[in-house]
Amino acid sequence: MTEKNQEKIDILSLSQAELEDEILLLGEKKFRAKQIWQWLHVKKVRNFDKMSNLSAQFRGKLSDIFCIKSLIISKRLASNIDNTVKYLYELPDGNHIETVLMEYNHGYSLCVSTQVGCKMGCRFCASTIAGFKRNLEPSEILLQLYETERDSGIKVSSIVLMGIGEPLDNFDNVTKFLDILSDKDGSNMSLRHVSLSTCGIVPRIYDLADKSYGLTLSVSLHATTDAKRSEIMPINNKYNINELISACKYYLHKTGRRISFEYALIDGVNDSKEQAKELSRLFKGMQSHINIIPVNKIKEREFTSNRKSAIRFRDLLIDLGVNATVRRTLGSDIDAACGQLRREYEI
Ligand code: SAH
Repeated sequence: MTEKNQEKIDILSLSQAELEDEILLLGEKKFRAKQIWQWLHVKKVRNFDKMSNLSAQFRGKLSDIFCIKSLIISKRLASNIDNTVKYLYELPDGNHIETVLMEYNHGYSLCVSTQVGCKMGCRFCASTIAGFKRNLEPSEILLQLYETERDSGIKVSSIVLMGIGEPLDNFDNVTKFLDILSDKDGSNMSLRHVSLSTCGIVPRIYDLADKSYGLTLSVSLHATTDAKRSEIMPINNKYNINELISACKYYLHKTGRRISFEYALIDGVNDSKEQAKELSRLFKGMQSHINIIPVNKIKEREFTSNRKSAIRFRDLLIDLGVNATVRRTLGSDIDAACGQLRREYEI
């Protein structure tokens, strides 16, 4: 982004109501805001000059005050095994993030990043190794969708906030993104088609529940005791398993939406029969679903697993009456697990 642009208002990060306020401040009529909104979020133009139902003078005024951000595709990796495509995007300030497009039976799903890097320090995760750089703006989360749809020609039908970063550590920008994404005059995506994954920032789970968005909450659990969870997920020192499960129950009660728990299976760390039993005790009487993921090996860590172990652990859980599945592996030939491509690129 040029220095001049940095002083301008990032128009794609405004909600429709905020854009209206800005347009009224310029002494223009309210309906102009809706016209601009549709150029930005339906026709997805990148230049004010394309907004042909506005006068040249007004367009000039807009480009003096606002900027329309964009992302650059630094790398695009297409899987030869399935239709997964992984994008490495360059942000206006030169930082990089990853976005993954995946095909499922019901359509295409997009996994988006919410931060540059991550401060959560989960031991098995590549996104956190080089630490945290900054939060993504609402526009930068949204643009991952717009640019990927533009590049691929594919209409994305669902979004998962499971890329680089901890979405609930960037709460205001992420919720603004959700508001823009679901705006009836824009992308109009039902938030029932959105999943948000968190490592467990407990107060923000309550805040999210109170928003009543209707999205699916995925909680990265990965262990059944505080001792074990704290070992691999430092956030557990701040909010322990009991506090996390209480927040999940509140979310369930408030939204009526079943929670999905992620469990990255790691050989010799969290894959024993005893741990399966503990999981079943933890979820007793709670509407939930456990998604088992054989941990993806990252080169900086020794953790390993495989699909066979995941199926064995799932069967143990099912025998104990727990609703469990093994997550499908997509894009295994292109390291589709988050954080790995960015790390290669930034080193
Ligand atoms: N910060 C959020 C979302 C990003 S990570 C969270 O923690 O949920 C998305 C999911 O991938 C999380 O469940 C995370 O624990 C998991 N994950 C990270 N690294 C992984 C790896 N190497 N193997 C398997 N799952 C991993």
